[in-house]
Amino acid sequence: MTTKRPPTALEKMGLNSPMALALHLPSRYEDETELFTIDEALGLGRFHSIQTQGVVIRNQVMFRPRRQLLVTIEDDTGSLQLRFLNFYPSQQKQMAVGSHVRVRGEVREGYQGAEMVHPTVRAVTSDAPLPASLTPVYPASAGTSQTIIRKAVLQALRDASLKESLAEFLPSKLMAEIFPSNDWPPLQDAIAYLHQPPADANTQSLLERTHPAWRRVQFEELLAQQISLKRAHAIRRERRAPSFKRDQQISKVSTTNTSVEDGLFKVLPFKLTGAQARVWSEIGLDLSNTFPMNRLLQGDVGSGKTVIAALAAARAMDHGYQAAIMAPTEILAEQHYLKMKEWFEPLGVKIVWLSGSLKAKEKRLAQEMIESGDAQLIIGTHALIQDKVSFAKLGLAVIDEQHRFGVRQRLEIQQRVGSELFYCHQLMMTATPIPRTLAMTYYADLDVSVIDELPPGRKPIATKVVKAARRDEVIGGLHDWLTKGLQAYWVCPLIEESEVLQLQTAVESFEQLTQALPDFKVGLVHGRLKGEEKAAVMAAFKANEIQLLVATTVIEVGVDVPNAALMVIEHAERFGYAQIHQLRGRVGRGSADSVCILMYAEPLSLAAKERLQTLRETSDGFVIAERDLSLRGPGELLGAKQSGDAMLRFVDLQRDAWLIELAQLAAERLLAEHGDLVERHLERWLGSRTEFLKA
Ligand code: ADP
Ligand code: MG
Repeated sequence: MTTKRPPTALEKMGLNSPMALALHLPSRYEDETELFTIDEALGLGRFHSIQTQGVVIRNQVMFRPRRQLLVTIEDDTGSLQLRFLNFYPSQQKQMAVGSHVRVRGEVREGYQGAEMVHPTVRAVTSDAPLPASLTPVYPASAGTSQTIIRKAVLQALRDASLKESLAEFLPSKLMAEIFPSNDWPPLQDAIAYLHQPPADANTQSLLERTHPAWRRVQFEELLAQQISLKRAHAIRRERRAPSFKRDQQISKVSTTNTSVEDGLFKVLPFKLTGAQARVWSEIGLDLSNTFPMNRLLQGDVGSGKTVIAALAAARAMDHGYQAAIMAPTEILAEQHYLKMKEWFEPLGVKIVWLSGSLKAKEKRLAQEMIESGDAQLIIGTHALIQDKVSFAKLGLAVIDEQHRFGVRQRLEIQQRVGSELFYCHQLMMTATPIPRTLAMTYYADLDVSVIDELPPGRKPIATKVVKAARRDEVIGGLHDWLTKGLQAYWVCPLIEESEVLQLQTAVESFEQLTQALPDFKVGLVHGRLKGEEKAAVMAAFKANEIQLLVATTVIEVGVDVPNAALMVIEHAERFGYAQIHQLRGRVGRGSADSVCILMYAEPLSLAAKERLQTLRETSDGFVIAERDLSLRGPGELLGAKQSGDAMLRFVDLQRDAWLIELAQLAAERLLAEHGDLVERHLERWLGSRTEFLKA
C-alpha cells in the first residue's frame, strides 16, 4: 500500500482482497424470488418474511404517540399499511404517493389492522423482474451495510484473479478414491453457489451448512489445517533441542550425591500411581529426543500432574539446564512455588519466583539470576514471558492450565530461549480433557499423555444442588461440619460486570458467616488482596487456623488442603461447567467424605438447570468437557479467545466430525504425491495464520 488512508469498514473486517470477499460467506438468505399479492401476503406473512408490492396511496408523518411514518400501498387485491419508527427523508421521498414499491417483511396485527413494521423497501416498476437467486445476508459490522457488502462481493466474484486463487486443484482421482460418493461441486462453483443460490435451492441444507457446496468448502478448510499441522509436525522434528537421557545426567546441581531426580523420588511422600508412572516414562522418552517435546499432559483435577512436572524439571536440571513452570494465576503459581520448595530445596536446587506483583528490585534480582543461570528452577505467572526475561539455558518449559494461555504466549516462551536453531522442550498440562475432534484438528501436532487414575484413597465427591432459599439450612450443616474438626470453602461467584460488586458480595457473605459461626475462624480471600496478604490467608487456612475460607473464584485452581472436604458454591448457576469442575476438585483430597453444595438462585435458565444436573450426576471430566464443547465451541478450550483467531471458520467440530478423517487422509496423500499443490493450498487458506499452527 502506497498511500496512507484510514481503512474502510470492509478492510477492518479483513475483507481486503477478492479472495477474502469470496470467502466471506453468507450466514443466511432472504427469498426475494417470490412475489405475493397483498391479499396473499396478509394471509401468508404471519411469523415469516414475505414479499409483495403495490402503489403508494398514502404517505404521512404522524407525531403521536411518537414521530413515525405511515405508508399505505395497494394492488388489485387489497391494501397494506407500512410503519416506520425511524426513517430518513430519502425514504419518505422514495415512497411518495403514486410510486411503486416492493416491500418485504412480516405481517402483524397493529392497532389499525394488519401492517408491516420496518419492511425492506425497494422502488421498482410494476413489471420489474424478480431476482433469480436468493439474496445473501452477510455477517456485517458497524459501518457497513448489506448493500455495500453485497456489491463488494459481487465485484470480487467477477475479479479475474479469483479464477486463479480458487482454481480446482484437488486431483479428481484422489477424491474419487477417498470419497467415491461425494457430490461436491468444484470449489469455485461451490463458492459462487453459496453467494447466489438459485431460487429453488434447498435452503434448509444451506442454513445448516450441510449442502454439498458447503461440504466442499469445509473440506477445503479442514484440508488446509491438516496439511499445515502435518507440516508443523515435520518441522518440529527437524528442530534441535537438548537431549536429556536418564543415564547421562551430570547431576552437578544437586548438593547431595544423587541426581535431583533420584533425590526427588526419595523425598516424595507417596509412590507414583500406575498412570503417573506410565506418563512419566512417555515424557522421559520425549526428553531424551534431540527435537523439542510438544506434549500435553491431561489429567483430571487432583490426579497428580504437579509431581510429573517436577520430575521433568529434575531431569532437565540434572543435565545442567534450567526449567520453568508457568501458571495462569498468582495463586496457582504460588502453590507450585511452595510445593517445589518443599521438594527441591532440601536437594540444594536454586528456585526463583517471578510474578508481576514483585517489587521492582526483587524482580530485577530474579531476572538477573535467570539470565546468569544461577536460577535452576523458575516458577511464575505471565511475568515469565511479559517482562524482559531471557533465560541462560532453558531446557524445559511447563505450562499449567495451558488453555488459559493463548497460542501466541506458548510460542513466546519458546522464543525466550534465544536462537531459532535451539528450542526448549514444552510440557503443557490441563485438567480439561480435549475431546477427540479437537485433538484431531487443533492439537494434531501435540502428543498427549493422560493420567486416568486418581491417587489412592480418594473418595468420590457427593454433589448436591440446593436452592438459595435454603441458605440457613446450609449454614446449619456447615456448623455441624466444622464442629467435626473439618474445614470448608465458601465460594462466591465471579461477577463479570464488576470487580467491585464481586468483592462486595464476598464481603457480605464473609460477614454473615462470621456472625453465624462465632465458634470458628472465618477467612476471606479475593483478587484485590496483595500477593503476600493472600499467601498469609492461604497459609492460615492450610494450618487450620482458619476453618472456613470465603473466597472469590481466585481459588479456582491450585489450592490443596486435604482437611477441607466441603465446598459451598454460591450462585452456582453463574458458573460454567469447567469452572465448577475445577473448583469442586479442591475437595475430595483427604480421607473424609467430600461434599460439594451447588447453591442456585431462581429463576434458573434451562441451560443452567441442565448444567447443574450434569454436574450433580457426574464428576467425569471427559463427560463434562464434551458437554462444554457442544455448548461453547472450541474457542475457550483452545485459548483461542486470547489469540483472537478462530482458525476454522466454516467447520463445526461437532457437526462435521466425519469430515476431519477424510481431510486427514487427503492431506497425507497430497503431501506424499502432490507436494507442489500443498504450498498453494496453504497460502490460499491460511495466509499469515500458519504461524499459529506451529505452536
Ligand atoms: P493436579 O493434577 O490437579 O494438579 P496435584 O498435582 O495438585 O493435582 O495433586 C493433587 C494431590 O494429590 C496433591 O496433594 C498431591 O501431593 C497428591 N498426590 C499426587 N500424586 C500422588 C500419589 N501418587 N499418591 C498420593 N498422593 C498423590
Ligand atoms: Mg494442578
